[in-house]
Amino acid sequence: MDFIDLKTQYRTLQTSIQARINAVLEHGQYILGPEVRELEERLQAYTGAKHCITVSSGTDALLISLMALGIQPGDEVITTPFTFVATAEVIVLLGATPVFVDIEPDTCNIDASLIEAAITAKTKAIIPVSLYGQPADMDEINAIAARHGNIPVIEDAAESFGAEYRGRKSCHLSTIGCTSFFPAKPLGCYGDGGAIFTDDDEIARACREIRVHGQSKRYFHTRIGVGGRMDTLQCAIVLAKLERFDWEVEQRIVIGSRYNEWMDKAGIARVRQRNDRTSVFGYYAVIPENREILQAVFQRNEIPTGVHFPSLCQQPAYSRFSSPSANPVSKIMAEKVMTLPMSAYLTHMDQSVICELLQKDARG
Ligand SMILES: *Cc1c(COP(=O)(O)O)cnc(C)c1O
Repeated sequence: MDFIDLKTQYRTLQTSIQARINAVLEHGQYILGPEVRELEERLQAYTGAKHCITVSSGTDALLISLMALGIQPGDEVITTPFTFVATAEVIVLLGATPVFVDIEPDTCNIDASLIEAAITAKTKAIIPVSLYGQPADMDEINAIAARHGNIPVIEDAAESFGAEYRGRKSCHLSTIGCTSFFPAKPLGCYGDGGAIFTDDDEIARACREIRVHGQSKRYFHTRIGVGGRMDTLQCAIVLAKLERFDWEVEQRIVIGSRYNEWMDKAGIARVRQRNDRTSVFGYYAVIPENREILQAVFQRNEIPTGVHFPSLCQQPAYSRFSSPSANPVSKIMAEKVMTLPMSAYLTHMDQSVICELLQKDARG
């Protein structure tokens, strides 16, 4: 059993993926070819965002977004410590300071009620993460940001493409939305890729320029940029995968709901993810009594499990950004959560095997 079953997805979509790849090989425009714009237009339509800028990874989507906002040394950016390292890494790379705000114990998303107290005159952006495929309380966060001089809000939607929040799509919930097409994400390519979404024309233009070494036209560099384009081939692969994406989202919700039902029946604690499209179940996380023992049990049964994620406050490179007693909920959850195999192609039978193993453990 795979943690994320990409092989079945490939077999299902093989003909379209190969046709798309062949089309790129035939026209030969490997950089910023027609599939790049085609994908951006499709994703604009999907999310409802006015602009989509594809980039080389989810990490670069965040980095380019912060550069477009003009984040500089000395600035502060509020985010959660319970995330993949990239969210905070890009802040530090620009010489700014990540200000970690603790999470809600039920969803493990940033606790909006703690954000206001962390805002200072130096706060230049807020990056909530839509962890495990489920957006944080974005309306509340947007309202706080608006009250404090319209601080830009960047949704790190690397795990949540396809999720809905109050009738709007993830990636289109705040000033900027950033997603990732890393193969393991809900919408993945076969390498690295990502995208930035915004309704703001100026931010979009800045992102487009920064993506190509800060040039506004060929060899005319208006600003400092990066080499951050997404390959035409990777865009072609995402275009092929979009054919089945709606079905995959439905499937993810069916499978996620089934996990929820099972855990609740067996009395196994879990991170709260609702069954109503507000999550695409990017990951499925439970909170076992003893993670180490349970992971060993799973390993003996050749079922992969994960830890998403260790708390950044406990990482050597990031501990200087918070005191040891800060963000206690993140610390506890990071020590407890365990993620289970999850994908649109997880079979009912495999899921039963996983759940029975968990249930046996819960009974002791
Ligand atoms: C995967 C991920 C990223 C980074 O995306 P890449 O495409 O791997 O660079 C950023 N933030 C979160 C929350 C992620 O899960």
